[in-house]
Amino acid sequence: MKGVCILGATGSIGQSTLAVLSAHPQQFRVVALTAHTQVELMLALCQIHQPEYAVMADEQAAERLQWALRDISVDIRVLSGQAGLEAVASLPQSDIVMAAIVGSAGLRSSMAAAKAGKRLLLANKESLVMAGHLLLDAVSQNQATLLPVDSEHNAIFQCLPEDGVGPKGGVSKVLLTASGGPFREWTAEQLKHVTPAQACKHPNWSMGRKISVDSASLMNKGLEVIEACWLFDLPVDDIEVVVHPQSIIHSMVQYVDGSTLAQMGNPDMCTPIAYALSWPSRMSAGVAALNLIEVSRLTFEAPDIDRFPCLRLAMEAMHVGGCAPIYLNAANEVAVAAFLAEKISFMGIPQVIERTLNDSDSQVPEDLQSVLLADQRARQLATEIIGEKQWVN
Ligand code: NAD
Ligand code: MG
Repeated sequence: MKGVCILGATGSIGQSTLAVLSAHPQQFRVVALTAHTQVELMLALCQIHQPEYAVMADEQAAERLQWALRDISVDIRVLSGQAGLEAVASLPQSDIVMAAIVGSAGLRSSMAAAKAGKRLLLANKESLVMAGHLLLDAVSQNQATLLPVDSEHNAIFQCLPEDGVGPKGGVSKVLLTASGGPFREWTAEQLKHVTPAQACKHPNWSMGRKISVDSASLMNKGLEVIEACWLFDLPVDDIEVVVHPQSIIHSMVQYVDGSTLAQMGNPDMCTPIAYALSWPSRMSAGVAALNLIEVSRLTFEAPDIDRFPCLRLAMEAMHVGGCAPIYLNAANEVAVAAFLAEKISFMGIPQVIERTLNDSDSQVPEDLQSVLLADQRARQLATEIIGEKQWVN
């Protein structure tokens, strides 16, 4: 019986993880659940899954949860804040930690799980974008196991040779597939008038709001290129983004002999989640088998970095290295929040990011504290840029 901690249990990935775990009660036990502010949903999850610990990142929400749990007979310890998240990410009774908090808010708890030597199932790609070298060091120094949950990276992981991309494996390139998002066929003029509701409606995947906007701007693909560089020890130039609107092939690996291996399946995050939970074996994910006759056509095209500059900005930031990916990620989070609050336009997002990136440098942050400082600086800058209002087109 494996103990599991789910960071970000109330989110899209968190709830898919709970659905997969519930189908295998003999193999897994929920030890801890965390959320930000959603007390009612957390209360319901506590009643169903009966964890030992429930953490609310927000202090007031933690108090409200504590109060609400008084009426329930199960004994659940409520913790709060960043300290609570890090504490449950390193509990001795959990073997597996699902890192499914959205954004930079997930970095410290991902690091804590790595330092505690857990099997870390990483959905929070922002952890690798911000602090790839530090997270990988923590994993190797503490005998942790890092497994990708992001569908593309999970696919690549399934298609790579056992020893990874070393010289013996014969890997020549990784093809990272992208759906192209809801605006794949929109003109530059139409893109100026995108609303938050339109951006949050993805054609193939159901996800949280931030990653939905990232998918629409192709920043999600940019963050995933950076994520792949760290996970698979690849230079940016060995990763090619291929737009594949059906989202049936989740990514591919090319070999020197001309072979291309692809992992396919219906677009449902329960598949990569189940694989990461049960690796190296496999278990049922509750996902229907792929019916290729029904799918009938798989198509591919090149991404358009003129209409979707976020992808270009992410690749440039990874080329620069050092603090640039931290600035990219922070500016994106601030800009996406401003777009969702209708303070800037959809095409304002890459403009805010580009201007923030101008102030970054290639100095590699030595420790977590320096990463967090760079993140803070970039957020402040992006907020100031948004305040100027000169950039709106
Ligand atoms: P979501 O918005 O649905 O859920 C986010 C979770 O994080 C919630 O439980 C929320 O309570 C928690 N959270 C938010 N802010 C927090 C804070 N400040 N402190 C602590 N907890 C906080 O997001 P999601 O779609 O489930 O995505 C989660 C992560 O997984 C993201 O990094 C995303 O890029 C990645 N991911 C998601 C999908 C997907 O299909 N949804 C696919 C691949 C990767
Ligand atoms: Mg993905």
